Amino acid sequence: MRKTLSIISLGFLIISCGTQKNTQTVVAKPTLPKVSPAKPVVSDQKPKVQREHGVDFFKDNIADVSKNDNTASYGSIVSANPATYKVVKTFYPSVGQNFRQKYIILHYTALDDDKSVMVLTQQSVSAHYLVNDLGDNEIYQLVDENKRAYHAGISAWRKDKMLNDTSIGIEIVNAGYKTDASGTKIFPEYSDAQVRKVAALVKDLANRYMVPATNILGHSDIAPTRKQDPGPKFPWKKLYDEYQVGMWYDEGTKQNFYDSAVLEDYAMQMSVPSFLFKIQTALRDFGYDLNPNGAYDDATKKTIETFQYHFRPQNYSGMMDAETWAILQALDQKYPNK
Ligand SMILES: [Zn+2]
Repeated sequence: MRKTLSIISLGFLIISCGTQKNTQTVVAKPTLPKVSPAKPVVSDQKPKVQREHGVDFFKDNIADVSKNDNTASYGSIVSANPATYKVVKTFYPSVGQNFRQKYIILHYTALDDDKSVMVLTQQSVSAHYLVNDLGDNEIYQLVDENKRAYHAGISAWRKDKMLNDTSIGIEIVNAGYKTDASGTKIFPEYSDAQVRKVAALVKDLANRYMVPATNILGHSDIAPTRKQDPGPKFPWKKLYDEYQVGMWYDEGTKQNFYDSAVLEDYAMQMSVPSFLFKIQTALRDFGYDLNPNGAYDDATKKTIETFQYHFRPQNYSGMMDAETWAILQALDQKYPNK
């Protein structure tokens, strides 16, 4: 496993070093340089940091897999290196700026450890981080946090669409669901070691990029008709309770909504257009990409199911019931979509 990863890293290392060497030669000589073969950088070489006015600048482009330490380099500035010109290294920070990283999206790989590494590094899908299931203390970084990884696909949440542009993707090694004889999806557990890693990683990312709780989501939340990951076994409540990460409802508020809702017969009303319209509108207003039409269609069933994966994982029937409805209203009140 580790051998595989280090061989892959070396492959990228050679390619990216070649690019950088050429750029530096252009700066020194205005005429076009002869391209010399790239030399691999020694793996423990650190990027050169230059501190000016209390800000760390990196002479080399840190958006480079061979320098896989973006957590340490956070707060640095990557600057252009234009031939014959100098980018003035005195930093005058603009007020008009924010982080590109607005979302943290969790996935499962539906593959084992080795295959996860192979697919996420060698094929068209990728993620910024990969959490293995080996019980060690390592988290693999596959894409620089400043760059886009291909993990979300067609996706939406609240006012945002195509969340690859604005998110950090975390893949967790997990086998994914199997369907039993009755058609029920059965999901495997996550190990405690994995959950601790994911929690620490998400907490670090959320703190550094100031990602709000409403924007820490599962893949299924942002693509409910296409995706099931990370599934109902992912312990969102534990992350909220123990790491103050992500959204969770207040029990008392939920109970109040439940007490006033419990007399309604939800199963019967699933065929009443006005009732469905109300449910669909509430799900859309909370953040899901759902078009209210008054019909219990496939998109509505899958959106209710994905809501249940996240917030009521004991029963993910895709049917609205009193408890699911009470939870949705409690969340809507706590995390209004402004
Ligand atoms: Zn996914």
